[in-house]
Amino acid sequence: MAPLIYYKCPICKMARDTFDDAERCERSHLPAVSVRELEYRLGAYPFRVALLFADGKEREYIADDGLFMIGQEVENADDKNKGYGKRYKGPR
Ligand SMILES: [Zn+2]
Repeated sequence: MAPLIYYKCPICKMARDTFDDAERCERSHLPAVSVRELEYRLGAYPFRVALLFADGKEREYIADDGLFMIGQEVENADDKNKGYGKRYKGPR
């Protein structure tokens, strides 16, 4: 029997066939360099933030802890039965 050898990117945890591929994958992930709070709702933590990355691009992220769903629209009927409440359906 031959063992299967693969390498795992420490950041995204994806398996790669070679060490070089895993290293390339690791280098491809950008850390956030700053955070800008865009919106607060109930609770201490921001509901919506924008992260700035080293390449100069900014991306928006929305909390996914279930608390933000109050009063939001439902994405589709099946979501009602998942036990998570309503899904956020806003611009991303
Ligand atoms: Zn990776």
